[in-house]
Amino acid sequence: QTFTATRVRKDFLHFFEERGHRIVPSAPVFPQDDPTLLFTNAGMNQFKDVFLGTGTRPYKRAVDTQKCIRVQGKHNDLEEVGRDTYHHTFFEMLGNWSFGDYFKEDAIVWSWTLLTEVWGMPKDRLWVTVFAGDEKDGLPADTEAEEIWKTKTDIDPSHVLRFDKSDNFWEMGETGPCGPCTEIHIDRGGPDSDPNDGADIKIGVNAGNERFIELWNNVFMQFNRQDDGSLVELPAKSVDTGMGFERVLAVLQGKSSNYDTDLFQPIFRAIERVTGKTYHATPDDEADVAFRVCADHVRAFTSAVADGVTPSNEGRGYVLRRLVRRASRYGLQHLGAKEPFLFEVVAAVVDVLGEAFPEMKTRKEHVQLVMKTEEESFRKTLDRGLVQFEKLAQATKGMEIDGKDAYELYATYGFPQDLVELMARERGMSVDTAGWDAAREAHSEVSKSEGSFKQILSAEELSGLPGTVAVYHEDEGGRTECNAEVV
Ligand code: ATP
Ligand code: MG
Ligand code: MG
Ligand code: MG
Repeated sequence: QTFTATRVRKDFLHFFEERGHRIVPSAPVFPQDDPTLLFTNAGMNQFKDVFLGTGTRPYKRAVDTQKCIRVQGKHNDLEEVGRDTYHHTFFEMLGNWSFGDYFKEDAIVWSWTLLTEVWGMPKDRLWVTVFAGDEKDGLPADTEAEEIWKTKTDIDPSHVLRFDKSDNFWEMGETGPCGPCTEIHIDRGGPDSDPNDGADIKIGVNAGNERFIELWNNVFMQFNRQDDGSLVELPAKSVDTGMGFERVLAVLQGKSSNYDTDLFQPIFRAIERVTGKTYHATPDDEADVAFRVCADHVRAFTSAVADGVTPSNEGRGYVLRRLVRRASRYGLQHLGAKEPFLFEVVAAVVDVLGEAFPEMKTRKEHVQLVMKTEEESFRKTLDRGLVQFEKLAQATKGMEIDGKDAYELYATYGFPQDLVELMARERGMSVDTAGWDAAREAHSEVSKSEGSFKQILSAEELSGLPGTVAVYHEDEGGRTECNAEVV
């Protein structure tokens, strides 16, 4: 029996279905009715109303795999992508929920049973954290969860660690439902690693700690925080869990990187076919980083576009635009892809994920077309932007690129800020952000006062271009883009 992605996903759903949970579909990554949230970033998003008491469901237990994207705000994993082995922009969060039904004991015992009995993970490599309490905030330690771990499971008791509020207490907002959580981590070993020193290491919390990674978070919604900051026990206590599917799969397949699993391998094969390059799975190799970034970004793009987001210059759409531009630049500079190629990778993503998320199958052609159009439009200025960046970098004395000059890469060539910063980092340089911000302000003032159609490209750039170019019009109503013929 091999742990394929399809099987592990099904195992999870069925394990909880057998224990009375309703299998529910993933919510779209594009939150339909929550303007405060750019993308769905956790399984519990779709149940927020239930936890706040403003909505109900016809079931008390649910289980699903939720499409998540973490590229913004509190959860922004973009810069980790391709560099570490376990953070993606798009990932699946496996989750089980109790809405005022079962609580700590069932949740803990079930998660342990699934990981160690059903899937056979080595018990001596698992470590768990429980909430240590917080005196200042009047929060008690979660001795309940601690006792359950030590008496109702056969985990080595020395592997149950107390962590503080920053890691093991969850709050939805300033007020409302909150409670302690318990997290399960795995020790993946490594050169010279002592299996008994987990207690001395800030497990999983340190970015770039490749030895201990967090697998599963179990949140116990136990309190309701009042306006005055005090805590009241909730009459109906709930459970909200989230486990990284790609991570658990890597562990079960005996791989040291999520990218070595069958969720990513077919995508690498597709990138190899279109670029003629080979993926070597080397951690710090720039071409391999490019492979991983492109695979990751095409997954995120495919899921978001299939759910109805379109690339644009603001909000969700701009996140997509940034992802495509980032991936396209990696493709050209590190994989030698002279032509748009990302649209040719979409089919592989749909092959891997389409069974679990049928909307990706249904909208495959649409996603391919949007990707093609989007990458083609960036490719019109990409080459010249790179030349311009090169000039800038070479003219820079010291390590910091002038913010106003760097901003021109955005204004003229459409290079997003994070891309310019990334390119600077690749050369051991940085960008003066204050200068960038000032230039952006000045730029938007000019466009506002002019209030007429403006070219995205300068006249000088335009002279080299045949056919249509993108222009925009900006006024109080915002920015509208359209195409115009160059004559
Ligand atoms: P980490 O500390 O590793 O960044 P987290 O504490 O931010 O994870 P949670 O918000 O607790 O993550 O989400 C629940 C689970 O989702 C995590 O235990 C992890 O397995 C998984 N997860 C979180 N972020 C990512 C990501 N960017 N890519 C893949 N899996 C992730
Ligand atoms: Mg995180
Ligand atoms: Mg964490
Ligand atoms: Mg966590």
